[in-house]
Amino acid sequence: MKKVHVFNAGPCLLPQVAIDNTIEALKDFSGTGISLISISHRTKEWDAVMDECRSLWRELLHIPDTHEVVFLGGGASLQFLYVAMNYLEKKAAYLDTGVWAHKALKEAQGIGEAYAIACSKDKNYTYIPKGFEIPSDIDYLHITTNNTIYGTEIREDMDCPVPLIADMSSDIMSRPVDVSKYDLIYGGAQKNVGPAGVIFAIIRKDSLGRVSRYIPTMLDYRTHIDKLSMFNTPPVFAIYVMKETLKWLKGIGGVEAIDKINQRKADLLYGEIDRNPLFVGTAAKEDRSRMNVCFVMAPGYEDLQDEFFAFAKERGMIGIKGHRSVGGFRASLYNACSEEDVQALVDCMKEFEQLKK
Ligand SMILES: *Cc1c(COP(=O)(O)O)cnc(C)c1O
Repeated sequence: MKKVHVFNAGPCLLPQVAIDNTIEALKDFSGTGISLISISHRTKEWDAVMDECRSLWRELLHIPDTHEVVFLGGGASLQFLYVAMNYLEKKAAYLDTGVWAHKALKEAQGIGEAYAIACSKDKNYTYIPKGFEIPSDIDYLHITTNNTIYGTEIREDMDCPVPLIADMSSDIMSRPVDVSKYDLIYGGAQKNVGPAGVIFAIIRKDSLGRVSRYIPTMLDYRTHIDKLSMFNTPPVFAIYVMKETLKWLKGIGGVEAIDKINQRKADLLYGEIDRNPLFVGTAAKEDRSRMNVCFVMAPGYEDLQDEFFAFAKERGMIGIKGHRSVGGFRASLYNACSEEDVQALVDCMKEFEQLKK
């Protein structure tokens, strides 16, 4: 295969060993003689996969006994509806920090009363609002810990006087998380822990059952906790790849180890962006995401953008185009992206600078 450096925002780069092990299982699942995608999900061999996947989640994030983890289909976008269905009774507050956060809010507004407690749209979502008052009479506060499109991140598990719910689609498993501070953490797997097709939800069990509405069976988290994520046919392929990805993460030292690696990767790339006169970062420095690094050509060099894209592409850089609503560049440094990959991008930026000096 051609040597490339993948910075895609999602679906993300996955560890090669997870892909190789999945290929084996696709041919012959656990020595059954049947492919992973043809086995019955009502077998002891499949139960073992589910158990291992759940255990890995619990172990890696130190999930306390108060919480359960479930795996479902429908994408993080359907979780926006689950959240409101399961938790919104009178009123909910949302921190509006980007397109995904805004979509979550909009979905809740279709179910009941929900509002933006603070919003950073005035500066195209390049910062995280601070200093807002959290009223005590709301059902929950919803935050998006990493804003994939704008490259901002909330990396501190905040103390919240009301139940805290977080969309962690694009930074889950990138750092240790104090799960006990959240009533619900959810996200799509495809940004950091697996392929598209499965979501994770980590739920404080006693936070459920507080709303008076009828919740359709499939949208009720209790259904999936009771049935161990097997009320209906689970997305077996996606769960398998996720399990293999987490096994890899455990093997390299878990979230505590990847946390340090992710910090080094982010420092390396932001360091170059800040040093290199050709480029400038778009997110407020104190809110910079370690997962999605957004930058543009510096003032005076804007007309070099297409040339840099071509230059970088020639050197094997893939997926560094910024989201269409932001423009410029975005390099996503998810867990499977190595320090060597980031170094290659940095070298490429340096070389380009030499060329243009
Ligand atoms: C990608 C993304 C989503 C949407 O995920 P889907 O699985 O495509 O619905 C939601 N929230 C965040 C933070 C994301 O990055």
